[in-house]
Amino acid sequence: MPTLYEEVRAALRESEFRPRKRLGQNFLVHEHVLEAILDLLALEMDDLVLEIGPGLGALTRRLVDRAAGVWAVEVDSILTRRLQESDLIANQKFHLISGDILKVPLAEILPKQKIKLIGNLPYSISTPVLFRVFELRDHFTSIVLMVQKEVADRIASAPGTKTYGTLSVWCQIHGQVTKKLQVSPEAFFPQPKVRSTVLKMELYPRPRVSPEEMTVLRGLLRAAFGQRRKTLGNVLGNWLKSGRDEVEEFLRSQHIDPRRRGETLSIENFIDLTHALASSHLLRAQPMDHLAKQLHVAN
Ligand code: SAM
Repeated sequence: MPTLYEEVRAALRESEFRPRKRLGQNFLVHEHVLEAILDLLALEMDDLVLEIGPGLGALTRRLVDRAAGVWAVEVDSILTRRLQESDLIANQKFHLISGDILKVPLAEILPKQKIKLIGNLPYSISTPVLFRVFELRDHFTSIVLMVQKEVADRIASAPGTKTYGTLSVWCQIHGQVTKKLQVSPEAFFPQPKVRSTVLKMELYPRPRVSPEEMTVLRGLLRAAFGQRRKTLGNVLGNWLKSGRDEVEEFLRSQHIDPRRRGETLSIENFIDLTHALASSHLLRAQPMDHLAKQLHVAN
């Protein structure tokens, strides 16, 4: 039996396929890493799975063996054709979608039942993919995602640390990271330059901030982390275009010292502040376009 490494090398030689860096085409070649990722996913035979970036299909084959249905989204046309010509296509459980995970109409394509997400995808798109998943969160139960180690650290980090920021709060209001697996560059061919972490995230049945208040939270995060070194009194004053005394009084009424910095606020603090702001005159005095419609994840 060829090893996974030999299989991947042979597949690449055969199809004269040149892995593209831009598409994060680093294929897993260590069998035990594939198995460890599958363990994180904890599949039951009646589970449905969405795989992002099936590539040469190594993980896909194992998913099809162990789940009731697999929807696989691949952007590379050569790899899509390879999958279309493979034995997988005859399997009724396998559904191949050719396209970019950030653009395909997932809500129309995915089955009505809840689905588990697995993705070993280019690190450049891991944050937009996470945000897309949160937007479509009613489809998903859990997420297993391979990300660059530094991104994993930011997702799961705690207040007061350098890595704590918009991404940490946004992920932690949607779900909880329950497991992590470190993967070294040797587990891939070709080897990436960065270290990787596989994260398992269980989504909460509902986000911890209501859909109506999400815009408020986005604005609050932008203010709190946009200028990390400034005090909350200062950044909220600028955001809300309100007098210092008024903002400070509001923060104190929420038991938050206005001299604190945004990066010291816990997830609970952000949730409480969002609720309080949503009904406060400070925010009601603002036009809607002063709130943030999109998240900025620069830190
Ligand atoms: N799943 C395979 C494995 O683990 O060996 C391949 C993973 S490889 C790191 C990333 C895969 O995602 C590639 O097949 C690549 O073509 C695909 N990909 C890259 N960008 C994508 C996108 N925007 N939408 C869907 N697939 C994408």
